[in-house]
Amino acid sequence: MRFAADATVGKLGRHLRSTGFDTLCQHQSRRGDFFETIDSERVILTRNTLVKLRFKHRPLVFIRDNDPYRQMMQVVRELKLGWCDVNPFSRCIECNEELLQVDRVAVTGQVPAYVWQHHRTFHACGKCGRIYWAGSHHNRMVQRFSAIFQQKDEKTHEC
Ligand SMILES: [Zn+2]
Repeated sequence: MRFAADATVGKLGRHLRSTGFDTLCQHQSRRGDFFETIDSERVILTRNTLVKLRFKHRPLVFIRDNDPYRQMMQVVRELKLGWCDVNPFSRCIECNEELLQVDRVAVTGQVPAYVWQHHRTFHACGKCGRIYWAGSHHNRMVQRFSAIFQQKDEKTHEC
């Protein structure tokens, strides 16, 4: 499942990237007519009623809530996603590129010394060069995402 988030749901777009979903974000696009220029298979995410009406023939989730985590819950429910669809922190949050595992030695001096000493696994974005590791922030996010993608009372599927 691939997504296209318009400017009204930019944060949701970043969360979807964190969970590994290929997500284009309108605020990073230089093209004037974002949805016209992307492939029509992508699920459009928007809070804009005009976008909803204009692209009603395309796969689309009209987001109701203000809170990005609740927005994600809605996407998960409406598209019947499950935890097995998720690949946390496999994609760059900034540029949507898939991350590559990099050798620990290769990131020497590029991450804080404390981080370098306490982590064995690092990933990097081939496009922007940003380096990722599973810190405490990462673990909190994984817990939140796992709660969202495994809502027992909802229509999400078991893996
Ligand atoms: Zn990147």
